Amino acid sequence: MTKESKNIGVYICSGCDIGDAIDTDKLKTLACEHPEVKHCDLHPFLCSAEVHLKINDEIREHQLDSLVIAGCSPRHVPESLNFSEIYTERVNLREGVAWVMEPGHEDTQMAAEDYLEMGIARTRASGLPDPYIPEQPESVILVLGGGITGIQSALEGARAGYSVLLIEKEDSLGGWLNHWHDIIPLSGSKQTHLSYFLNEKLEELNSSPLITVYKNSTVSSISGEPGKFQVKLKTRNTSTAGNDPDVTECKAGAIILANGWKPYDAAKLTDLGFSKHKNMITQADLETMAKDDKISRPSDSRVPENILFIQCAGSRDEKHLPYCSNVCCLTSLKQALYIRKKYPESNIFIVYKDIRTPGKNEHFYREVQSDNRIFFTKGEISEITELENKSLSITISDNLLGEPVRIRADLVVAATGMEPNQSEDLHLLYRKGEGLPERKYGFPDSHFICFPYETQRTGIYAAGAVRTAQGIRECMEDAGGAVVKAIQCIESVKRGEAVHPRPGDQSYPVLSLQRCTDCKRCTEECPFGSYDENEKGTPLPNPARCRRCGICMGSCPERIINFDNFSIHAISSMIKSIPIPDEFEEKPRVLAFVCENDAYPAFDLAALHRHRISPFLRIIPVRCIGSINQIWLSDALSAGYDGIMQIGCKPGDDYQCHFITGSELMETRSENIQETLQTMMLEPERIKTVFLEIDEYHRIPGIIDDYLETIEDIGPNPFKDM
Ligand code: SF4
Ligand code: SF4
Repeated sequence: MTKESKNIGVYICSGCDIGDAIDTDKLKTLACEHPEVKHCDLHPFLCSAEVHLKINDEIREHQLDSLVIAGCSPRHVPESLNFSEIYTERVNLREGVAWVMEPGHEDTQMAAEDYLEMGIARTRASGLPDPYIPEQPESVILVLGGGITGIQSALEGARAGYSVLLIEKEDSLGGWLNHWHDIIPLSGSKQTHLSYFLNEKLEELNSSPLITVYKNSTVSSISGEPGKFQVKLKTRNTSTAGNDPDVTECKAGAIILANGWKPYDAAKLTDLGFSKHKNMITQADLETMAKDDKISRPSDSRVPENILFIQCAGSRDEKHLPYCSNVCCLTSLKQALYIRKKYPESNIFIVYKDIRTPGKNEHFYREVQSDNRIFFTKGEISEITELENKSLSITISDNLLGEPVRIRADLVVAATGMEPNQSEDLHLLYRKGEGLPERKYGFPDSHFICFPYETQRTGIYAAGAVRTAQGIRECMEDAGGAVVKAIQCIESVKRGEAVHPRPGDQSYPVLSLQRCTDCKRCTEECPFGSYDENEKGTPLPNPARCRRCGICMGSCPERIINFDNFSIHAISSMIKSIPIPDEFEEKPRVLAFVCENDAYPAFDLAALHRHRISPFLRIIPVRCIGSINQIWLSDALSAGYDGIMQIGCKPGDDYQCHFITGSELMETRSENIQETLQTMMLEPERIKTVFLEIDEYHRIPGIIDDYLETIEDIGPNPFKDM
């Protein structure tokens, strides 16, 4: 049962050119005809502070339970027109009508009247959401992984005043740093002393009363939801061999996955013959040798004189790691420098595709370049052959000299790149699996363009090299970013609000499970794993995991999933609330469901540039085009709309869909859509899906006009006037 509003106040703005384009008095008269509208008013500046006070007085005076504010786009001045205690619907007369249609034209007036009707209809069928707040939400941040990212995350969390549980599987903190001889200078030049750097961090960590460290520990399970994660830890009993591990149960409000990376498996580099050549090692092998003060050839333990580094060994290669591993160039520079310091007679050759040393690291690159026994050669490795003494002869082609060059090296170091560690370490007891879904290149992000650190499991943030290939400095920055996200999540859960990309939204899906057929569509299609299920297969919602996209609402064939302020009934009421001109009037009607993330802002931008948009279009903003339920399409076609557009973000791995799979789902659901059209004996062109990026606003008028031409070609919807 969704909420309903009974005492509606309607406020119409005539400022910002609205009054010049639209007869607002007529709109007011129209609004007053609705029995639920208890008060109606017209203002030249609705967004002014005085009007805000006046509306607040009138809410009390007329006992209004909801408001319709007809003026600018809902994306404009949200604070000035925010009445948090009362349901508020914004009707977009400015960007939606006055700025994009011919002033004073009857079609412009009709569009304005329709939008007002739709706003009132939606308000009538909606209400202020009752927030979901888990009982006694936790403020503790759990950090999984005690490498540099985990250490820095714990420090940042504690500095912000939050308790942190830091879990490390080894018996000491530091991760890879414990295996490194040296680190890349953090300030872009001059050496950073590794032991001093790490000890300083550990001292602060050990002295913080807010940080609890579990060493020799792994997570055996995580269940629950943000604000209420239940975590089971297994700690190796180091005092007595053979003893069962200790099990600890704890709670957390948010989780940071900082379990780092592993070097790409060099055995896969068959083109380089890695496994065949004894004197070919990886950067990580060299680092261990240097730390043990034993840089030598594996074949005969002799100190190498000529050492050759192969950059991008696997990285930036579609057959291996298609991405740049970010730190291998700098690592080779660092290693070249420390070898030269230790063995002044050595010669170093660095064979590269491109040397990448962003930002201040350029100074370090120059420092290394100035060494006259370190040689840089741009080129591709075309052949490696092993000589009798196990040295290697490397042929380099495509180089700057124009013809192949051969170099003889005692030792070859392959810069093998970074791969993220498994997120299965989380052991999530979620219906959708133990780990985090992986997106492009195997990293667990949820929208790498707009939401760094976010994963597809709400309240769990990825930081450091498990998020993307990166070095120590970037890992420390990541830690800060992920902690801010974790805190934002913890505090939002306490207020019953969504985190992103709908911050502050207190609505969440409410299920009328009496009518559920256990079809599992919602559990399968929720991109964020919000639903678990019981033995029967009935969905078990975890509202704090929900990102409020509405995809489950769009998926449910029984239409039993609704939000208090975004429901099947409310949108259906909007669709049915407006008069559809008959076929002889030659005023077609196209309904456009427009995604609020990119497409709706693009419409606003088109308006800002005063692009003309057809007055025959009627827009309904939706949270994601994945939230469009089939029934809305049938409702619209039965009501006589000539065509329906679903305009959303671009799907795919270079995705912009803010809810990851919403746009993709729309494509997979198209089969059902075609079925609907066939059942109604309508042409497939009656429903069109368009993907639009936010900066493609200039395409909008053309897209709409082209579609209207298609509609003209196929003729009016035969359901008109039925
Ligand atoms: S609204 Fe979106 S995130 Fe929330 S449960 Fe439904 S599909 Fe999942
Ligand atoms: S999609 Fe609807 S009917 Fe199917 S399991 Fe979910 S709630 Fe039940």
